[in-house]
Amino acid sequence: MSEGFLPQRINLPQLADLGRQMAGRVKAEALPRLAQLAYEGRIGDAFATLDFGVDIQGWRYVRGKVTCPVSLQCQRCLGALENVIASTFALSPARTDVNEKAFPKHYDMIELDGLQVSLTAIIEDELLLSLPMVPMHAENVCPAANGKDTLLEEQQL
Ligand SMILES: [Zn+2]
Repeated sequence: MSEGFLPQRINLPQLADLGRQMAGRVKAEALPRLAQLAYEGRIGDAFATLDFGVDIQGWRYVRGKVTCPVSLQCQRCLGALENVIASTFALSPARTDVNEKAFPKHYDMIELDGLQVSLTAIIEDELLLSLPMVPMHAENVCPAANGKDTLLEEQQL
């Protein structure tokens, strides 16, 4: 296990063949697409744990978990809503020796750029996919709630 910051790019096939594990942070500044969707661009460093390997059918994979503190805009009161976005994923690169149709459904396919892949982009993509569609405070803490759900319905029309 190496702690600290994760490398920006990785050689995925090599790490998979070695069965490596990694855990570390990705700086908030390296996640600009996520920051763009955050309330006033407020996000923290992401933290990820990654497990590389080769499954019994010969597919190289990376399985991981990532969390990141992200401020979102509550769609009810339009104020800031502090969140920790969490995602788990299992990815595998396509293979040239196997028909594309045989790609296992329990992985998402990732494109390799040579042998390298941007780990930062993988992590940012996973976080983007895990953002709530309609972020909202819980009703008991949202300043605009107070049981006035009918008001919200009118505003949305
Ligand atoms: Zn709210």
